Order: sequence, then structure tokens, then C-alpha cells
Amino acid sequence: MCLYLIFNLIIVPPIAKGFGREALPWFSAEVAPRNWFYPLAFRNYADPELKAVLFESAKTSGLKITYLDANFPFFNGFPLLPHLSHNDGRKIDLSFMYLDNKGQATTDKPSRSGYGVYVQKRSQSSKNCLDQGFWQYDFTKYLTFGTNDDLEFDKNGTRDLIQSLLSKSQTQSIFIEPYLEQQLQLNKAYRIRFHGCRAVRHDDHIHLQIK
Ligand SMILES: [Zn+2]
Repeated sequence: MCLYLIFNLIIVPPIAKGFGREALPWFSAEVAPRNWFYPLAFRNYADPELKAVLFESAKTSGLKITYLDANFPFFNGFPLLPHLSHNDGRKIDLSFMYLDNKGQATTDKPSRSGYGVYVQKRSQSSKNCLDQGFWQYDFTKYLTFGTNDDLEFDKNGTRDLIQSLLSKSQTQSIFIEPYLEQQLQLNKAYRIRFHGCRAVRHDDHIHLQIK
């Protein structure tokens, strides 16, 4: 374990710099992982521009940003499975915002992994994709590794987070499910897209990519 941590914390980061990637922090008041799996498994690397977008968005919104899968430290084109597109340091998954059982904003999230707890159990797009045979579309429901059912989706907080991401010129696109785009009244934002049925559901997290 000790050797692994030396590798993780001391050896890999400078090599990753040569590949144009920086590690996102393990702890920080602005940007932090959902859990330690992400940095421990080297899934927390991002282009410095993406890192800057995250920190600036946290500042603009006043929210703590929770990241899930980002990218591996090396080699463009080497995907972070199962996310085929997370292969160039310019993509990352982020958690939505939630309220606790007293209706107060919290940094806690309903899924231990960060994936698989959907805002609505059923949605038209997931039904369409599953009906078309894209069986993987809601597979993330098996990957929560435990849930906290006391939390409620925070519409305002999540909208603030997405708007702060959209306020950065480097933001190229954000994927969320179409019904959430409507619910959050973001439907005029041209950079918000539907990702198609070959991906997985995006009503449990935000996918952000920069230019
Ligand atoms: Zn993603």
C-alpha cells in the first residue's frame, strides 16, 4: 500500500504533467472526489484548463464541486472505461447538488459511487433507449455501492452549478437527460446536449467537456 501511494502521489503526477494532465485534489473546499476510489485508481486526471474551469466554477457558484470519473494520467486516446470519451483529459463527470432531510443544501450525495441514483426512476429517454435494445443505458443502477435515501435533488443548486460551468468560455458541452434540461429551465442553452443511447443515463450526474 505504501509503495502504491508513493507511486500515486509522488511518481505519477510529474510524468502526467508531461502528458498535459494534472491530478485533481483528494481534498479541497472547492473541488473534491465523491470518494477516494477515484484518485486511488488514477481516475482523477484532467487537462489544466479543465481543472481551472472546475475551480473557477466553484468560485462563481459558491458550491463545492464533487467529481466522479475524469481521465487517466497518460496517453490521449486511451479511454477510461467504461467511458469511451474520457480519453483526452478534457472530460469529467460531476455530481448534482442535493438537499438533506431538513431541506438544507448539503455536499453529501445519494450514491456512494456517485452513479446510479436517478432524479426520476423512469424517464422517456431511458425508456426509448431501453426499448431500442440499448441494455446498458441504465446499467449504472447496479453500481451505486450503497445509497442515502434521505437526500433530495436540489434543483436550484444544480442549476447554479450548470450555469456557472456554462459561464466559462472553455465549456464545450454538458450532457444531461432532456427532462432535466427542461426541469432546470436550461432548455435555451445550446451547449447542453443529449448524449444518445450508446452512453448511459445522465440523470444521476453531469458530463462536462471542454474545447
Ligand atoms: Zn462522462
